[in-house]
Amino acid sequence: MTAHRRPRIGGPLLDRVAARCERRCACTGRCGNRHTASGGRCEREHRAGRPLIAAPADPSMPDAEAARLPVEQLLAWCGDCLAKAAGRGRADRAHRDAEHDAEQQFGLF
Ligand SMILES: [Zn+2]
Ligand SMILES: [Zn+2]
Repeated sequence: MTAHRRPRIGGPLLDRVAARCERRCACTGRCGNRHTASGGRCEREHRAGRPLIAAPADPSMPDAEAARLPVEQLLAWCGDCLAKAAGRGRADRAHRDAEHDAEQQFGLF
């Protein structure tokens, strides 16, 4: 069980997101895999029993922010790409925040 499980979007909303993404994972390399074998985009398809997951284009976005996004701004992700892209995004974000904090502290002096 994962500690920070994002509420999953399902049913008609997920279908809308998946349909907009041609019922295919929308990842074009954010997960770290450039998906060159499948034309630069992940080839996982939205299927019964193995559905894609609706998530923001930046899957590392905090859940509170993601929950406010309109469905139009969500993409269909496969589980693998989503997990890897979220991990990479969080690492980037932590790095940016650390730099930001350093700048702010610098500004105090
Ligand atoms: Zn994928
Ligand atoms: Zn991917």
